[in-house]
Amino acid sequence: MDSQGPTELALLAEEIGGCRRCPRLVGWREQVARERRASFAEEEYWGRPLAGFGDPSAQLVLLGLAPAAHGANRTGRMFTGDRSGDFLFAALARNGLANQPESRARDDGLQLNGVWISAAVRCAPPGNRPTPAERDACLPWSVRELRLLENARVIMCLGAFAWDAGLRLKARLAGPAVSPPRPRPRFGHGAELPGEPCSLIGCYHPSQQNTFTGRLTEPMIDAVLARARTMAQAR
Ligand code: SF4
Repeated sequence: MDSQGPTELALLAEEIGGCRRCPRLVGWREQVARERRASFAEEEYWGRPLAGFGDPSAQLVLLGLAPAAHGANRTGRMFTGDRSGDFLFAALARNGLANQPESRARDDGLQLNGVWISAAVRCAPPGNRPTPAERDACLPWSVRELRLLENARVIMCLGAFAWDAGLRLKARLAGPAVSPPRPRPRFGHGAELPGEPCSLIGCYHPSQQNTFTGRLTEPMIDAVLARARTMAQAR
């Protein structure tokens, strides 16, 4: 990463923060921020799009689905302030990728080491379900973000939606005329798609739906993180 990288990432984050490309999501993120959940009634919600965050020299990028309405859409940082984040940051801390196992607020002292966290869609969607059109509208932000992460080698896609976005992102990073492969490589926990400029690896999303049911366990996410780091270092 050259010395311009972090500055350019900050400028990109400002640009992303003003995006209003998706009317449905703009309406929802702002409605949630106005109405708030009773338990957070005293807090000022972020209510805007989110840029990624983490280590600008990261080799590993985690790609989530979208901000949670009362999680990242409240706190203004990806995966911060919800149960998915509790599971994810504990895993990052266990694996030496974060300095603490919790992520509560933007000023909580969290530091990531070797990892960057972003999402396929940057505004909270109703029911946690963005549309394919919203995914595609948001893709250019991820392309620009990844291009500024000069050491990024592996994109770890959290869930099938992020995997689909990751396939498109990988193709766009490879060149304007490059399309995602056909037939489409299937998402799975531990699925891999090697290649340039970035490889993909799949991981079940750390949502409560998966972590409370045992579909995604601590050893399972630890194994994918370890494999992702090995893939990144091998390149
Ligand atoms: S989802 Fe992405 S493209 Fe759509 S409004 Fe939010 S930041 Fe913009």
